[in-house]
Amino acid sequence: MSKEKLNCSFCGRAKPQTQLLIAGLDAHICDKCILQAYGIVKEETTEEKGEAKLDLELHPPKKIKSFLDDYVIGQESAKKILSVAVYNHYKRINQLNGKSEIEIQKSNVILVGQTGTGKTLLAQTISKLLKVPLAIVDATVLTEAGYVGEDVESILTKLLQAADYDIDKAQYGIVFIDEIDKIARKGDNPSITRDVSGEGVQQALLKLLEGTKVNVPPKGGRKHPDQKFIEVDTSNILFIAGGAFDGIERAINKRLNLQAIGYNTKKELEKVDAKNVLQYITPRDIRSFGLIPEIIGRLPVLTYMNPLDKETLSTILTTPKNALIKQYIQLFEMDGIELTFTLGALDYIVDKALEYKLGARGLRSLCEAVLNEAMFELPESDVNALKVTKSYVEQRLAKIELPALKVVS
Ligand code: ADP
Repeated sequence: MSKEKLNCSFCGRAKPQTQLLIAGLDAHICDKCILQAYGIVKEETTEEKGEAKLDLELHPPKKIKSFLDDYVIGQESAKKILSVAVYNHYKRINQLNGKSEIEIQKSNVILVGQTGTGKTLLAQTISKLLKVPLAIVDATVLTEAGYVGEDVESILTKLLQAADYDIDKAQYGIVFIDEIDKIARKGDNPSITRDVSGEGVQQALLKLLEGTKVNVPPKGGRKHPDQKFIEVDTSNILFIAGGAFDGIERAINKRLNLQAIGYNTKKELEKVDAKNVLQYITPRDIRSFGLIPEIIGRLPVLTYMNPLDKETLSTILTTPKNALIKQYIQLFEMDGIELTFTLGALDYIVDKALEYKLGARGLRSLCEAVLNEAMFELPESDVNALKVTKSYVEQRLAKIELPALKVVS
């Protein structure tokens, strides 16, 4: 064969159209095909590795709870219920991988509680423990397919991105859907007008929650540059939905009162902790709020978050593994400055967070406001210690407009 007539045996390109043509025993391969083949080899082998890496070790509920304790303060009931749900979820996956006649239902969870009480933090901490990817999505941006906004499939795009486009990892991941209460059906009669942001989205979510195969637009990712869709199976994804369900206490109270009248159990009612009726929440209350029964059925584990009181806020400020105060101490330490707080200072910060109803999220804005000046001035100074006292906090906070401490979620 003359040199000019040589072709790549894979793509057929003639030698002049290639930069390099390597000869084998009975064939040739061009530079482009080598690169493509290399990509395939790399993708296949890393996917295999990824599979082996998937650490779906079964963590018993007590272990999950004690891990959560390190990061999430209080919320005992939610932590316990969530630990069992997560344990059962992964037991179910293990069972699916084997074969059994009894099919265990998914343990998707719904967390009801005011904003800033730790719902997202719970989901984040679970994903940290299990080393599975987590997508946090806001239900309010979701719309039915065909309307302006994001389709529900975008949830899975986010999960794929969180898993660095490793499909196997994504399929065992966690999705936290925030503000699920905002897609409640508005009004009692759903059939009068089509409710774009409400019931339609709930309908669209159903299949996803239950487990289905969805074609997801990857929107990026090195591994699938030309692929329009990636098929993602949602059967093993754990969905945790959270919402404040503002005003749901009224429905709970009403139900509790009706029960008391109906059964004349005044004594029972006396035992009710009227300050925190959220603890008595049932799926029926969620339904009366406007979530459709099918959605509630697919989020079978229901639990609640307690409002944060002064003691809990104080603990949040100083105790968790990555508590805010510990973070600031470390930041100052990096500049060789020893940062300390008096108890009075910490107390004052917590009081302000309570007073301005800023919750745990507000602690951060307050600390930032208190320490900003020092973080600006001290790094290049001779100062090697800063003691934050109550009067220091008062002075700093007096300098700023407290309404400026608006909580950003
Ligand atoms: P939610 O999702 O309920 O609105 P988040 O979980 O986003 O609230 O909480 C906001 C921030 O407040 C978190 O980053 C965390 O630092 C802090 N926080 C809230 N609740 C707790 C808690 N129970 N324990 C520790 N930190 C908390």
